[in-house]
Amino acid sequence: MGLLVEIDPQSGFCGGVIRAIGSAERFLSEHPGRTLYSLGSIVHNDEELSRLSRRGLVSVSQEDLPSLAARGELSLLIRAHGEPPSTYRRAAGLGFEVVDCTCPVVLKLQQDIRAAYDRLQTSGRPGQIVIFGRIGHAEVLGLVGQVDGDAIVVEAPDMLRAFLSDGTIRRDGRIELFSQTTKSPEEYAVVASLLRVSLTDPAALTVHDTICTQVARRHENLTAFATQHDVVIFVAGKTSSNGTVLFSLCKSLNIRTFLVSSEAEVRKEWFRPDDKVGVSGATSTPKWLLDQVAGRIASLTL
Ligand code: SF4
Repeated sequence: MGLLVEIDPQSGFCGGVIRAIGSAERFLSEHPGRTLYSLGSIVHNDEELSRLSRRGLVSVSQEDLPSLAARGELSLLIRAHGEPPSTYRRAAGLGFEVVDCTCPVVLKLQQDIRAAYDRLQTSGRPGQIVIFGRIGHAEVLGLVGQVDGDAIVVEAPDMLRAFLSDGTIRRDGRIELFSQTTKSPEEYAVVASLLRVSLTDPAALTVHDTICTQVARRHENLTAFATQHDVVIFVAGKTSSNGTVLFSLCKSLNIRTFLVSSEAEVRKEWFRPDDKVGVSGATSTPKWLLDQVAGRIASLTL
């Protein structure tokens, strides 16, 4: 008898990724024969990227823009992560037509950071923007760019402690704290409380609730899903920030959690005959890939 396999009903693309891929596919069907250039990968998943590249979506970097413009290849997609204002200025200067797929949740976060920065500038007290996120991540670069780089990015509580002790983060000023949308809600709470107890005036800290609700809900659901199965196969691209966070959450709850990026990476030795197997994925993992991985597991003979 084959293994019992259940796909996490809450997994699959988040709304922002569905929206971005839908916009890209719509553009490509409305402009047959044209190539749409995505500034960075539209989704951190190689399998889905291959599918979209066959339809005419090609990932490029900032360095590629001048040569594309010189060739008259002028269709540029901005992905759900968003971009700093400097990217829009540069794209416009080179003559690109921009298909802006910035997720509305990220757009709102960008606006909130600009508004907080303006408040700090006019408050008459020293103040700083602190962002809990991954240094160098595209969304974080877009957030920091909203305030011309005048923000401090903190990746983990240890980094926060170091910044407090070397004075990078001032204890005597106002702090407006934000999080990258895909960070762990638990870790963000730790960062916020550590900051609060470290400031001269705890009331000088404003904590903005900016973790995406879809991500926060997924953390809650995954906590139950990981403990209800003997083995969890987590499907995510190796570069997915959200995938790394959710995989670590699963692994901390169920030691028999394994990360794969496609069905080819599934290993027979991970399973025992009576195992109940759960298959889940990141916000950038397509449903069709979860189906393929689940199908591969169900076909194993142990
Ligand atoms: S995780 Fe949330 S904020 Fe990020 S793209 Fe998806 S829906 Fe938007």
